[in-house]
Order: sequence, then C-alpha cells, then structure tokens
Amino acid sequence: MYNRVIEYIKELYGNPDFVGLHEPRFVGNEKKYLNECVDSTFVSSVGKFVDRFEQMVEEYTGCAKAVACVNGTNALHLALVLSDVKAGDEVITQPLTFIATANAISYCGAEPVFLDVDRDTLGLSPKALKEFLSTKTEKKEGHVYNKISGRKIKAVVPMHTFGHAVRMDELKAICDEYGLALIEDAAESLGSFYKGQHTGTIGEIGVLSFNGNKTITTGGGGMLLFRDIETGLHAKHLTTQAKVPHRWEFVHDEIGYNYRMPNLNAALGCAQMENLPMFLEKKKDLAEKYSYFFGAAGIQFLQQPEHSDSNYWLNAVILGNAEERDKFLTQTNNNGVMTRPIWRLMNRLPMFSHCQTDNLENAIWLEERVVNIPSSVRL
Ligand SMILES: *Cc1c(COP(=O)(O)O)cnc(C)c1O
Repeated sequence: MYNRVIEYIKELYGNPDFVGLHEPRFVGNEKKYLNECVDSTFVSSVGKFVDRFEQMVEEYTGCAKAVACVNGTNALHLALVLSDVKAGDEVITQPLTFIATANAISYCGAEPVFLDVDRDTLGLSPKALKEFLSTKTEKKEGHVYNKISGRKIKAVVPMHTFGHAVRMDELKAICDEYGLALIEDAAESLGSFYKGQHTGTIGEIGVLSFNGNKTITTGGGGMLLFRDIETGLHAKHLTTQAKVPHRWEFVHDEIGYNYRMPNLNAALGCAQMENLPMFLEKKKDLAEKYSYFFGAAGIQFLQQPEHSDSNYWLNAVILGNAEERDKFLTQTNNNGVMTRPIWRLMNRLPMFSHCQTDNLENAIWLEERVVNIPSSVRL
C-alpha cells in the first residue's frame, strides 16, 4: 500500500539498502579543527573553539549571550535553575515532547504540568495556557499558585517541535501577564525563525541541542541563549563549577555544575555552523519535494505554520488514524526506510503519570497519527 512512498524515499537518497531518519554530515572543516584541538592539546574545558562557537551562535541567532553546555538536557536544567525553579514548584510544558524537557524539570525537584498543543505547530497552545491559568490558578503575594495542588508555578517551557515555531507572541504576552518565566526548548529548531526572530531568543532563555541527530551536531552538546548578558555571564559561571577566576587558587562562590562544553566538541560545532546555511537550504528543498509528493499521494505532510520559517529538522506526515499509522510504520521499517511515531505523551509514562494535565485533545489526536520520515541532508 505504501510501496510508492518507500520507492520514492529510497530514490531521494540514491537507492541505498537502508535510509536512516537523520544522519550527521561532515563535509567541511570538521577534521581540520579536530586535528587543531589534538595538536594543541586543548581538547578539554579550555580552548579557543568554545568561545568561537558561542560567538558564531550569537551572531547567527541574534541573542545577547550564548553559553555552550555538555548537552541540551543539562542546558535545560540550568535554564530552569536560573529561572528560580525550586523543589516543590511547578513548570508548565507540553506532553508532546522529547523526554528531556520533562526530565530537566524533575532535576529541579519540580513537577511538570502538561497542557495541550496546537495542531498546526505541535507545540504548547496559548489558548490552553490562558485557559489553565485563568481557571486553575490564583495570584497570592505576587506569585501564581495552582489551586488544585497548592504549588507555586514558576515557568512555562514550550518546545518548537521538529523545528516548527510555537506561537511565541501569544505565549509571551500570557507569561508577562502572570509573571512567569518563559524558557524555549529550541533543541530542535536551530535555523527556525518566528516572525523573523530566531527561536530560542524570544523568551528569557532558549536552549539548543547538538546531539548526533540534530540539525548540526557536536557529538553531544547544547547551548543556552540569553537576551540578557548578565544572566548569560552568570550561566557561564555556573557551568564552570562557579569557580572565581584566578590564576592558581580554587575558590568557588556558589553551587555550580560541570556543564561546560569541551573544546573538542566545540571544534566540531564551529565546522558544522559554517555549513548550517547549506544544510538548511537542502532541508527546505527536501521538505518541498516531500510536500509535493505526499500532496499527490493524498497523505498529509506537516507544513510550517504561517508565522514560522522552519528548519524542517525532522519531516513528518499525519496519517488518517492509528491503524493507518501502524501500517505505514510496519511497511516502511520492513523495507529499509526508517520511520518512527511521534513520542508517547509524557503523562502516559510511569514517572509522569501522576502529573496534572488538561484534556490534551490535540496532543492525543497527534500522538495517534504523526510519523517522522527520513530527513538527513541530501548531499
Ligand atoms: C534533543 C532534545 C533535547 C536535548 O537533548 P540532548 O540529547 O540532551 O542534547 C531537549 N529537548 C528536545 C525537545 C529535544 O529534541
């Protein structure tokens, strides 16, 4: 039934036996910069590539300060710490996300509250957020409290799913009204812009990931994006064990973390950033081909919402129902084309099954239908 889909995707990638979902591409200065690191012996936490990588990301995204981290998950953790999320607090996020978003909230000893997403962005719905805050919370002494749990709500973490920007203007206006920190999980959206502004630079803090399957990779890695330079400098301090700079003394002035990206990974990052415009061009070209093909085949292809200039990190189709989805998954994976369903909703996982949700109408609808299809850059 999906033979034509399998044939077409294999053709796009030059008819290999197996087409992966998202493979990294190293066609630039990766080896050169890695060799420079090894030759200089600066492979670890000191070296020029970390600063250079941060600067390249600052220039590209337009944020005031970028701070490189060991991975996206600990960058998210630090973003929450910097937003004063403490044990016993609550953080609002979407149930349709990669586990890292919810795990990072747990690292703070806080509880996630999962609210519904929009069907077109696959990300946190401003309507659901407004509805929840206006009916389920109350303001006391300048803080927002959940009327059901009695806990303080500190932050809101939307995620730009597969590189499609959420409705940031609306979310930001609501967060401003309620005095909540807005942290963007932009792990999947390097190269995606919301109304001309890079995702991750609109809320107070944004988080990127450079894991092996992301738009660019540093092996493992993440980046914090700040609109405020002072907070960014504080974050840098926290990623380096809060060590007070001194030529020989070891003095630390608060509880810090070893979250700093090694120079070796940053070297890879610099080389990958140089190719980002080329990667994006090819990813958009692929999305256009898919859009045309699936349009003709009568299968819904996930398009960027009007407000989003998306990176098309992972392309997705929306099947008619769960049964069709399972057929699509079985046939493609049995025939050398890797596809996979969107994540199981966070509130269905054992460690988050006790968490508060709203009706999650759209999240459940999407969970049953969305499948990711091969999206590696075609060379
Ligand atoms: C990749 C990803 C992260 C961070 O993952 P790391 O592997 O720790 O870099 C966080 N959130 C989302 C939504 C992601 O897709």
